[in-house]
Amino acid sequence: MRVLLVGSGGREHAMAACLARSPELDALFIAPGNPGMAALGTLVPVKADDVTGLVAFARSEGIDLVVPGPEAPLVLGLTDACMEAGIACAGPTQAAAALEGSKSFTKDIADAARIPTARWERFEDPEPAIAFVRLRGAPIVIKADGLAAGKGVVVAQTVAEAEAAINDIMTDRSFGTAGASVVIEECLFGREVSLFAFCADERAVLIGAARDHKRIGEGDTGPNTGGMGAISPPPGFGRREQEEALDIMVRPMLREMVRRGTPFRGIIFAGLMLTEDGPKLIEYNVRFGDPEAQALLIRLKSDLLPVFAALADGRLNDANIVFSEDASISVVMAARGYPGKPVSGGVISGIDRAEAVPGVRVFQAGTAETDGRLVAAGGRVLTVCAMAPSPEEARERAYQGVAAIRWTDALWRRDIGL
Ligand code: ATP
Repeated sequence: MRVLLVGSGGREHAMAACLARSPELDALFIAPGNPGMAALGTLVPVKADDVTGLVAFARSEGIDLVVPGPEAPLVLGLTDACMEAGIACAGPTQAAAALEGSKSFTKDIADAARIPTARWERFEDPEPAIAFVRLRGAPIVIKADGLAAGKGVVVAQTVAEAEAAINDIMTDRSFGTAGASVVIEECLFGREVSLFAFCADERAVLIGAARDHKRIGEGDTGPNTGGMGAISPPPGFGRREQEEALDIMVRPMLREMVRRGTPFRGIIFAGLMLTEDGPKLIEYNVRFGDPEAQALLIRLKSDLLPVFAALADGRLNDANIVFSEDASISVVMAARGYPGKPVSGGVISGIDRAEAVPGVRVFQAGTAETDGRLVAAGGRVLTVCAMAPSPEEARERAYQGVAAIRWTDALWRRDIGL
């Protein structure tokens, strides 16, 4: 099979590592990829959100299967464009990707499918939204309806903070058209977990669960990031809890999507809050998380390529999907200054020494090659990932891996998985 993988982060590096070892693979192309992936496939200089460019490349190279990593091309209709060109694509159509692209769409589906979620209202104008917030009081959650790269959600502790968020999103349009409407939700309390599954039409097969660490600082302090690390499985949320959550949070949604004539095929990522009244749905994403994908995929024992091929044509068969029972953790090494202005250009070495630690793999994201040397060229630069029979050992191994990396500008959290 000739495969085009789309994306350039640590998540896609982990996906590429799985695809590259498939006996069914004839050729792997990665658009645009990163230097760490160059040994696994051919890098193609087409951006991940350039749908026209991706389809043109897939056509010209006789690609059999397109595998999208990030959400952007899915929300822009990559799968639909591939289907029109007669090329299989292992991701949801634009209509089904609305599960990530529109918060009110997701809430509507959750209500129709009777999936437990926070009570909510949608507003298209700031005045009634503000009146609603004054009536309900704080804490209350304000969300830009559309995609805002993780920045369009404010968990407001006071009514004034909620009003400011509404004005910011709707009047100042800080997130552009994503703020044309807002979703206002009841504030939930509990610990968060992320559940992942391969889905095709009404079938869902569990991948696993993870908990990520979004804040830059240790003890979950400081600004939000794309994710500084993840642990899988989250303590207290094992296989039984994950299967139960799949039944409550994912399968009813899949049936509702089929009922509406927009079946979902791809990877679902359900963000859940474990409240005193049981798990509640916070959001769906229509792809793997990063750095959760790295922590999940290093445990995959079976062949990923036939699974993606099956997602694309709706023949999902769980018999072929086997994960190790080990625990895993991923630690992101970012560049000093991240998530503001990361310092770039620092020389990185020691990846081979890190990977000499048993169970450790290093995935690259914001890296570049200059004069034959690997340098930092982004915010999140490396993910050091480890698996082991116990979470404690996985942690120890991951941090041994981190310690083996030589890069003066590196910034990482020491408390991932604690
Ligand atoms: P964006 O669209 O900007 O990328 P997102 O998809 O990350 O945002 P959500 O996942 O809906 O947005 O919310 C982000 C975070 O806000 C959640 O991970 C959770 O911590 C918090 N949050 C969201 N909804 C609620 C809620 N109802 N109660 C408490 N916390 C919430």
